[in-house]
Amino acid sequence: MRILLVEDDPALSLGVARGLEREGWKVDVLHDGEQAMGEGALGRHDLAILDLGLPRRDGMEVLRHWRGRGVRMPVLLLTARDELHDRVQGLDAGADDYLVKPFDLPELLARIRALKRRAQGRVDEVIQCGDLRLDLAHRELTHHGQRIALSPRELALTELLMQKAGRVVPKDSIVARMSTWEADFSENSVEVYVHRLRKRFADLGVVIRTVRGFGYLMEPAQGTTDGPAAA
Ligand code: CA
Repeated sequence: MRILLVEDDPALSLGVARGLEREGWKVDVLHDGEQAMGEGALGRHDLAILDLGLPRRDGMEVLRHWRGRGVRMPVLLLTARDELHDRVQGLDAGADDYLVKPFDLPELLARIRALKRRAQGRVDEVIQCGDLRLDLAHRELTHHGQRIALSPRELALTELLMQKAGRVVPKDSIVARMSTWEADFSENSVEVYVHRLRKRFADLGVVIRTVRGFGYLMEPAQGTTDGPAAA
């Protein structure tokens, strides 16, 4: 998941960004409302965390601009304690949730996970493909209860493919989701990571197919079974 964080307090934005990255999410940070308007409208992010008090354009203007342009990503507002009126306005203007400062990072992370689930129409935090099971809350991939250790990027790519198991994930959308401004993820890197994952998953009953000229598709390998009972 790629998140746009718009917060002008440098210490707060840094702390939040690091926390989000530890969850395995990609984060782009902006410190002013004007830039946020344009960037959020590009459709490159899955979710935005938007401070209300921002230089140049305030968060409310940014939010209205996005919604007016048809931007549908979930938006979580960060507000000061005395901005009750703004919070109400914000929700009316199309925000999905808000958090009052100061807040604890774990609460922010839990709310983001909840927004993500809602956006994907899911109620639980586990996705599955064949016998592979990915617990999104704990960032843990298991196969019959055995933990599969992956790097954060390998895990992020696995998540993208598992979210759409059985369907093709376009290569350019993988590039967009895996990149940040600081670290570009090229089409070549996608190939490298897919190659690595194929090796990791070789004996785990799932395959990643190449759909030439388009993208990748993850699905249970043919001929695998759900357990020894069916063998
Ligand atoms: Ca602020």
